[in-house]
Amino acid sequence: MSVFTEEVESKPDMFRKLIEKSSDVTIVTDRDFKIRYISSSSSKIFGKESIHMLGSSVFELVGTNNSACWDTFLVSASKSKSQDLVLQIDGEEKFFTAYLTNLFDDHIISGLVIKLHDITKSKIREKALIDSSKHLDQVFYKTTHDLIAPIRSMMGLVTLAENSVEEKRAEYLLLIRKSLVKLDGFIEEMNDFFKGERLEIKRERIDLKSLIQSEVDSLRTLHNSSSIDIEIDFDKQVDFFSDLFRIKTILTNLISNSLKYLDSSKEKSFLKLNVLVNEKEAIFRIQDNGIGIEQQYLKKIFDQFFRATVHSYGNGIGLFIVKDTIERLNGRINVTSTFGKGTTFEVTIPNQSILTV
Ligand code: ADP
Repeated sequence: MSVFTEEVESKPDMFRKLIEKSSDVTIVTDRDFKIRYISSSSSKIFGKESIHMLGSSVFELVGTNNSACWDTFLVSASKSKSQDLVLQIDGEEKFFTAYLTNLFDDHIISGLVIKLHDITKSKIREKALIDSSKHLDQVFYKTTHDLIAPIRSMMGLVTLAENSVEEKRAEYLLLIRKSLVKLDGFIEEMNDFFKGERLEIKRERIDLKSLIQSEVDSLRTLHNSSSIDIEIDFDKQVDFFSDLFRIKTILTNLISNSLKYLDSSKEKSFLKLNVLVNEKEAIFRIQDNGIGIEQQYLKKIFDQFFRATVHSYGNGIGLFIVKDTIERLNGRINVTSTFGKGTTFEVTIPNQSILTV
């Protein structure tokens, strides 16, 4: 018997605790829209202690800049309903699902119960997903376009080769080979890009010295740039931890550009690589005395499919991937260039030496 009594007595307390502990805001008003109860979680949203809101009109709760949507939500309540609301709070947009129920006393409305559930985090995630899907649509559209162009030109070359004499045919075959090599490079780049978009960021110990050396060696062979002076200066104070695949993507693109855009009119071409690793970060400086980039294009080189020179061998996707990858690693990139003299890229990537949970 006593158990039964205790249970009954403790229920209102239990519900009050549940409401108070919840991050959702619960508001009860009387029929004149005066606040009779407001849970303490409201102070985080409205910036006032709940006790100071008691007795005031529920219309005044959200501030004048939000009054239009708030008033419409409150007055259009003929029956229980829920609605998503956007409120400006301290200059920030906050998203809520708002629930409204009428309180009845003898079939007459005696007040309202309002519940606000903060959905800002999921709205931000939803927006990021929509942005990323739009972005992938653009990449897909441009990619298919960039794939079609060389295929069409190769089809034209095949027709020419079929109808030409032996000597001419060899020339056309060479042009077809060049197009195929370009296409192959482009598909590989796009493959890396899509892989980078999907893969989780890893934390692994990276042997930067051997990574850079092997990248330099293979890119040098690929671009046939044996005559270029390559100097690597390495200052490693501690081990470097980051995502190997992404670090490789960044360095490959930047080193490869320095080799692609060298200035053949110069007596000696060089590429200087400076790497400094400390507890906090790794700083990579990639400096060349190549053709340089015109000032007016400098800001655009990280845009997708932008080429700053007619001598571009690529598709203008490399630096876009570099920037995107650096952002994913919470790093920074800076470029300085003098047209005709050379270009320097400086990349800073946080060292994940301390495991963050
Ligand atoms: P691409 O595939 O055309 O090389 P990127 O996105 O890698 O595309 O680079 C964009 C443009 O920036 C290039 O077309 C080129 O004009 C310019 N660029 C990039 N790196 C260098 C560099 N080291 N020296 C001179 N120009 C460069």
